[in-house]
Amino acid sequence: MKEEILGVNVNTENYDELIPKVFANIDEGKKSLVVAINPEKLMKAKEDAELKALLNRAEFQIPDGIGVILASKLKKGQIRSRVTGIDMMDRIVQEAAKRGKRIFLYGAKPGVADAAAKRLQELHPDIQIAGVQHGYEKDTQVVLDTINKAQPDILFVAMGSPKQEQWIEQHRNQLHPILYQGVGGSFDVLAG
Ligand code: UDP
Repeated sequence: MKEEILGVNVNTENYDELIPKVFANIDEGKKSLVVAINPEKLMKAKEDAELKALLNRAEFQIPDGIGVILASKLKKGQIRSRVTGIDMMDRIVQEAAKRGKRIFLYGAKPGVADAAAKRLQELHPDIQIAGVQHGYEKDTQVVLDTINKAQPDILFVAMGSPKQEQWIEQHRNQLHPILYQGVGGSFDVLAG
């Protein structure tokens, strides 16, 4: 279910309810984008109609910021708990490991995605990491080819928001993965 917070649709479900829905889309081959909604993004969207439309077009908008929960409570809405970008990524990776789905990490400074991949492999030994690509390659075609050749099912993009969501939307027709999530600084956090 979704609820409108400052003109942006936000999912009301918790992790346990969202993961089956996200993977149902993967099973159906329905390309999906997960975006994390926090007050900063809501403020940007308030000033930028195009960004607001982009956020609303995403298949899943998770309530990442505590401010989103407060806003929902104030309007007597349904959103009760935070679903953070990094925890959602971890839950997706956990489920992907169980189901044999392949992940790819794109973004952050050279070396960071590799370190994040190593950490994810430690946390979820069964995860199949199809590949990694740092976020400063200028030639978009090289990036698209690298990702598609690796044949991932799931692509995490860490280039900051809204850049990462704009990049995903611009290129998802040329990309083979089925599930996309913009994860901001999460690779840096995982890399430690
Ligand atoms: N980044 C990137 N390519 C760029 C610009 C930024 O890969 O052209 C990366 C940057 O190295 C960092 C991440 O994007 O790892 C941005 O993290 P930040 O915490 O600023 O994002 P937020 O979570 O605030 O959206």
